Amino acid sequence: MKRYFPMTVLASAILAGCASTSITSSDVEKAYQSINSEQLAEHIKVLASDEFGGRAPSSKGEELTLAYLTDQFKALGFEPGNGDSFLQEVPLVSLEADSDMVLTIGGKDYQYKKDMVMGSSRISAKQSIKDSELVFVGYGVNAPEYNWNDYEGLDVKGKTVVMLVNDPGFATKNPDLFTGDAMTYYGRWTYKYEEASRQGAAGAIIIHETAPASYPWSVVENSWSGEQFGFQKENNNMDRVAVEGWVTTDVAKELFTKAGLDFDTMKANAAKGAYHVDMGDLTASVEVNNTIKKSISYNFIATLPGSEKPDEHIIYSAHWDHLGTDKTRKGDQIYNGAHDNATGTAGLIEVAEAFATLPEHPSRSMTFLAVTAEEQGLLGSKYYAANPVIPASQTVANINMDSLNLLGKVKDISVVGIGKSEMDNLLETAAKA
Ligand SMILES: [Zn+2]
Repeated sequence: MKRYFPMTVLASAILAGCASTSITSSDVEKAYQSINSEQLAEHIKVLASDEFGGRAPSSKGEELTLAYLTDQFKALGFEPGNGDSFLQEVPLVSLEADSDMVLTIGGKDYQYKKDMVMGSSRISAKQSIKDSELVFVGYGVNAPEYNWNDYEGLDVKGKTVVMLVNDPGFATKNPDLFTGDAMTYYGRWTYKYEEASRQGAAGAIIIHETAPASYPWSVVENSWSGEQFGFQKENNNMDRVAVEGWVTTDVAKELFTKAGLDFDTMKANAAKGAYHVDMGDLTASVEVNNTIKKSISYNFIATLPGSEKPDEHIIYSAHWDHLGTDKTRKGDQIYNGAHDNATGTAGLIEVAEAFATLPEHPSRSMTFLAVTAEEQGLLGSKYYAANPVIPASQTVANINMDSLNLLGKVKDISVVGIGKSEMDNLLETAAKA
């Protein structure tokens, strides 16, 4: 059987981990050979089997997946990564908003999914805004390091902010503005709601545009409807805006016209410098009714202690979860997730085996982290980053695998966010080979 995985990258990562001089190149070669497609296929078959039900967080499939990982890593001689446990508890909560919501602005009702999607991050059965004044806040960015604050001199308490997606650098392609074409965190929708919440706004609405969002309205529509997962929080996220959501470009254009403003002019202004303007006497009202469910899921963590620097860790990660089973679906109801991400999870076991095959442990600790609830918005990773089992100061690197290459050999590698990682050089060397 042919090897269909970027082995050069993995092999050089193994080499990089082996600072110990007593490990020879033939040991490394033997370790490298232990990563093979037959064994990968075996793990994938189990993880993506119907019995695992598509590996939804907090399901029977989760229990089976965690048990499988525990058995595999124990057999390879790995130790529990979190004290005496292989697990890190991730307390999840899901909110599902009733789909009969209506957003009323300027006397007109806008329809859920067709025109807009709204929700609330507050863990609460009912949240609403009523006759909340609209303010256009450009890109909704407060970035001292770029000397940019769209909220400067503005009090948005009780108001609803309306803003553009992405950032002024992307809009203008000016490399000196933010980071030019490469999106900063200020461009992401998550940031925009966070900042609106810090500013004390009641509501926050992002205007969808396909190019700067990098996905069409259908993605917003699908990902914002149905169950939305987050973390259980003591404050129930009451520090968030009451209502947050998106409107289509067409709705936005209509609203600006109603406010006596021109959308394209406002967009241009927003990219020139920090910007905000009241949207005439337009107000927004919407009520969000949530069904709330709480559950516990787990990140899996196992470690092979380093022979010389056990406190320094190289982390290999992959999300173990997938979309689960949809009982409302006709025919095959199981989203088996063989590719996304049984391949990456199997990859973890195989790379772990390679390290275990070496005659002695690598100099640094090799830690394997299988995270939960990626499909709900990278929640397992987010929880780990906020509650790291290995402190960030002791984490040398993190190599994540999500959906390994099934297409065969390729000539190119594309890097999202080049320049953001100190491992770019290692990758370049490996890619050259
Ligand atoms: Zn994935």
